[in-house]
Amino acid sequence: MQASEIRQKYLDFFVSKGHTVLPSSPLVPENDPTTLFTGSGMQPLVPYLLGKSHPSGNRLVDSQKCFRSMDIEEVGDNRHTTFFEMLGNWSLGDYFKQEQLSFVYEFLTKEVGLPKERLWVTCFAGEEALNLPKDTESFEIWKKLGMPEDHICYYGSNKNWWSRAGVPENMPAGEPGGPDSEIFYEFTDIVHNPEFGEACHPNCDCGRFLEIGNSVFMQYIKNTDGTFGLLPKQNVDFGGGLERIAMVAQNNNDIFLVNHGAVIKHLEKVCGKRYAESAEITKAFRIVADHSKAAVFLIGDGVKPGPVERGYVVRRLIRRAVRFCDQLRVPPGELGALVEAIVAQYKDAYPLLEEHKGNIRLELVQEEERFRKTLERGIKELERFAGDGAITGEDAFQLFTTYGFPLELIIEEAGMRGIKQVDIEGFKELLKKHSELSRAGSEQKFKGGLADTSEKTTRLHTAHHLLLKALQIVLGPEVHQRGSNITQERLRIDFSYGQKMTPEQKAEVERIVNEKIKEDIAVVQTLMPKEEAEKLGAEHEFGAKYPDRVSVYSVGPLDQAFSIEFCGGPHVEHTGQIGEAGVFKIQKEEAVAQGVRRIKAVIE
Ligand SMILES: [Zn+2]
Ligand SMILES: [Zn+2]
Repeated sequence: MQASEIRQKYLDFFVSKGHTVLPSSPLVPENDPTTLFTGSGMQPLVPYLLGKSHPSGNRLVDSQKCFRSMDIEEVGDNRHTTFFEMLGNWSLGDYFKQEQLSFVYEFLTKEVGLPKERLWVTCFAGEEALNLPKDTESFEIWKKLGMPEDHICYYGSNKNWWSRAGVPENMPAGEPGGPDSEIFYEFTDIVHNPEFGEACHPNCDCGRFLEIGNSVFMQYIKNTDGTFGLLPKQNVDFGGGLERIAMVAQNNNDIFLVNHGAVIKHLEKVCGKRYAESAEITKAFRIVADHSKAAVFLIGDGVKPGPVERGYVVRRLIRRAVRFCDQLRVPPGELGALVEAIVAQYKDAYPLLEEHKGNIRLELVQEEERFRKTLERGIKELERFAGDGAITGEDAFQLFTTYGFPLELIIEEAGMRGIKQVDIEGFKELLKKHSELSRAGSEQKFKGGLADTSEKTTRLHTAHHLLLKALQIVLGPEVHQRGSNITQERLRIDFSYGQKMTPEQKAEVERIVNEKIKEDIAVVQTLMPKEEAEKLGAEHEFGAKYPDRVSVYSVGPLDQAFSIEFCGGPHVEHTGQIGEAGVFKIQKEEAVAQGVRRIKAVIE
């Protein structure tokens, strides 16, 4: 059974159980300018799970396209992909554990036809110290459904507890959470690898078990005294991996063979290599297959390859795919030809892809061309480095970050110029530091671009608003924000401007910001209709989508504000509070891309 058939069966099945089908939300979250991509089926439903009433009722079902950029470097094994679809069904204060577990079991065994003896489930073991009981209710339901007792395993809150903050201990007061029950499929022909522990079990990482779905029971709310009470309205959230269910329906543990067949076939034809030829070649096929599919869906949802934020993620996907196409000796330009195969697979479920096909292909082709030009420039740079007789770790790292050269290519190209010495260790050290930083950056995104809501970060956030306005005063009104990131130590803003700022311009910007801090102006939050905020000329982030009613922060009362921005806060109450920590200072001003400058600034 193919994924497309499973998707349709799932929607039909839950419709027969009184659910309303929701269309998939776009990969770029609507009404949420702070999150880069939709990464789960639950994400667009969060406001409703927290109590808002849903216009389509309280039994909902969908198949949501998802993208997780944090998995980019993990792609290459048999189960990780950046793009996937998540099957989801929800009960908003309607049915609970009994119905949910019965529905899921019936769907998997009767509709998909999975052999019962291959299924395992897990339940929450309880946490005595917190007075959170063992979920024996789910255990008993599974048992009655026919699950053998030894296929029902209990795990603690690190595995079988859901809340937005993670384990129960981390939940703030007023936060909902609850136990969950996961379903696993056992690949009985895969022998357990003792490297992962003595005995195999559903959560073992050896590959014998594959998680295919999870039912979350939003049952509790954390009280202010740290105890847990029952939620007045209990919800169910189910998420199931569509591609994974297709894998187990075919008893095939390679997600790519099951879900990326058309692309793999096309690649085999144009490069003359076989997918299973060697581990290295299989990995290259997988990376191209995943990245091209993700890029097609992202461009289809309006993200163009570019230098910052979402665009940069698409750029990385395409460029990485090009590199691995080259490794497979796929002729240049062939990436665009994959669009046809990908759209053909999805056009029934996602008709807009077919409509945008021409444009998607054009973007892919153009980005590949841009990348090849960059590679040529990189070779020149490498020759310059090679002039010294050795490539240092820093040289190699610069080639990697600026021109996208992977280490193997650097070694290969250096070898062709007689250079034997490449500081591989030095490169790896820098790469490790870099990926830790970028991972921290992408996690931050989920908290709204702010690292935290500490006093220091809050001060810098208000200074950030003052800075943007000061830049517009000094450089011109056409300056707009293109990206931002604030930590406790410093603020960073990316803004549209074509030239390097002069020392005089920087000094003037600093002077204006510090003047506004000294004036100790009140910072005011106002909720208003989006149109009204736009009429007031409130600054908003380029490309971001906003809800009908927005939060606006102004420095000064709205009718005579120094600055007005679409913003969720938090901010200081008076600009003078920034001054208590010191003086505003620009540390660095540099280019990040054509027409985009970056400033890093501190209060010290
Ligand atoms: Zn195992
Ligand atoms: Zn703001």
